[in-house]
Order: sequence, then C-alpha cells, then structure tokens
Amino acid sequence: MKRKIVILGSTGSIGRQTLEVIKEHPDEFEIIGLSCRENIELLKEQIIKFKPNISVVANEFLAKKLKNELNNFNKTKIFWGVEGLIRISTLEEVDVVVVAITGIASLLPTLEAVKHGKEIAIASKESIVAAGDILVREAKANKATILPIDSEHSAILQCLKNERKENIEKIILTASGGPLYHLADSALKNISVEDALNHPTWKMGKKITIDSATLMNKGLEVIEARWLFDISPKKIEILIHPQSYIHSMIQFVDGTILAQLSEHDMRIPIQYALFYPDKVVNNYNRLDFTKIGQLTFKRPRFNKFPCIKLAYKALEIGGTMPAVLNGANEIAVNAFLNNQINITEIPIIIENTMKNHIPKLNPNLEDIFDADYWARKTTLLLCENKA
Ligand code: MG
Repeated sequence: MKRKIVILGSTGSIGRQTLEVIKEHPDEFEIIGLSCRENIELLKEQIIKFKPNISVVANEFLAKKLKNELNNFNKTKIFWGVEGLIRISTLEEVDVVVVAITGIASLLPTLEAVKHGKEIAIASKESIVAAGDILVREAKANKATILPIDSEHSAILQCLKNERKENIEKIILTASGGPLYHLADSALKNISVEDALNHPTWKMGKKITIDSATLMNKGLEVIEARWLFDISPKKIEILIHPQSYIHSMIQFVDGTILAQLSEHDMRIPIQYALFYPDKVVNNYNRLDFTKIGQLTFKRPRFNKFPCIKLAYKALEIGGTMPAVLNGANEIAVNAFLNNQINITEIPIIIENTMKNHIPKLNPNLEDIFDADYWARKTTLLLCENKA
C-alpha cells in the first residue's frame, strides 16, 4: 500500500527536493497535502502535477487567488494559515508529515502531527530547538516517530543503527565552516549580505545560509542532536570539516568511530527519512575519493563565531532559553538580510536578548510561545537601536 504524505513547505528547497524523491517512487508514495507560504505560482504547478486532496497557503487572500487560478476541474481543497497546516498534518489517512517550513512557524503543526502519532520527517530544526523536550515527550507518549532530514542528524541516525546508546562516547558534528570561516576577524564585520549567502558546499534557503555563516546553524544542530538522540551536550563536539563529505560521526567507548559520507545532496537524507530504516537504490552522484584527494579538519574558533557558545549556553540554562536563542536569532538574521545590522552584531544582539530573559524551567507550550514572542520583540528593539 502506498504511504500517504503531507509536505509542509513544499515550495522551499527541502520541499522541492522531497517531491523529486517522491516522483522517483510513484508506487511507494501518494501526496495528500502540500503547503507553501506565498509562492502560489509554484504551488499551483505542484498541485497540477501531484494532485493533493488539500493544499494550504498563508492567508485567505492567497487561498482565493490560488483557487481562481486553478481551473474548476481541479478538486484540491485550499485552506490557509496555521489552522490549515494543523488540519493537513493531522488528517486520519496521513502516514508521514514532512516538515520543511523555516522557523518557529512549524512548531504547532509538528506538535499536532506528533500527538496524532504520525511519522515526522523534520527539516525544520527551529521547532526542535525551541520545544525539543515537549516534542520528544509527546512523540513517546503517542508512538510518533521523529526522523531528521538535517544531513548531520541523518548521518548520526545511520551510524547509530544497531548500536546501544550507552556505547556512545561522543557525537562529532561536522561543520563546513560556511562562507566566512577563512576570513580575518577585521574583514568579518564588512561582509555583505551577498557574500554571506554564498555558501561553499550547500545550496539552501536564506535563513539557514546566514545561520551557516555565523555558525549558529551548528549551535542549533547541537540542541537538535541533544533532543533527537537524548544525549548530554557534553558528549556533542563540533569539528570543522570544510569539504563537508563526512556528514557526522559517532565515537564509541572502545575508541572506534563510525562516519557517514556522501555527496552534498539533500535528496540522500530526505530519501533515508522517507524509507527509514531501509536504504533504497538511487542514481545520485557517488563520492569519488580519488577526485576528492583529501579530507581536512580544524577545531572550531568559538571566539570568532560566538553563536556556538550561545547555543551551548542556552542548552545549559535550559527551560525557555533555547526558544529565546532561536527567536532572537530569527529576528537578528532578518535584520542582517535587510541591511539593518552587520553580521558580527548578530551574536551580540542575541546575547543581549538572552541576558535580559528570566528563563522558566520545565516550560509548557504556552511558556515557549511567550518566550519566543518576548525574544522577538526585545530583539527587534535592539536591532532598531543599532540601525
Ligand atoms: Mg545541517
């Protein structure tokens, strides 16, 4: 029987690549729902091609526009807003929900899907950062599975196969270092938005590319790993590996290390999440070691890229602090993309927001959203004062 799938964020980079993978396996999957925020032109094409029962857009205006543009013969129902996202994520017939929405916007639909016992293939690390504890707890209670699409976490999942967790000495999360790693400190603050968006090894959305440039992406991934694999942050280490062929590694208590390597192709972790725990045939590019020549490694420079330290700090403090880190980061990245602040101010502003927050421990969902809202408001003010 075909597995029934919903993709939240089908017009983004991960959403489009998920549809590519699904297109190659027409006998395995059926698309039940698709969603986008505003790119209704592309969503329209996807609806015509994949014939979902339901689609969701950001608001009523876009929903009506899309309905008009689709001809009368198209039976796809169009809903909007977060209620729409929750509706498609919790449909009785749906087996798998792919979460590929950037930012905290994915949290509510993801949590509702988890509560309905769905299998979640998640690319949106922000929800796990803000509310990892709640998501993991609810997943356990409702027998929902949360599978990572993030390449590092997919690598860890693959290396962990058949291994007992007690045998892990540490997780080694690799990081390319992003487009700015080689720069002198003095050159960093004059970096343009364009330079920061020019990632050396991965082509991704804007938010995650800036997060890669500040190394906040790696910090968020430490928090993501902490929750997905229930492992102490002390056992999670970051290693700079500029070629990005090793997607991450696990070092075991006997000193052996397992690594997962492949080409830079997000369709590989997407396929792994969709077919988990199986590996299926594909014709994507294979790694050619003789062409690569060598793999190199460096220790991360925490002082030059303080976002990593802030992420470890937020995790150590716990409670609502990771949600504040995440909310502050989303706003600061936006301010940089709008030329309001320079890139070196991102961690300074996030740190100031964190310093002003009184964390609430063992937060419920409302506390998380309150902290997120507070962090955004506070960070917006800090960014405006800088501009
Ligand atoms: Mg990643």
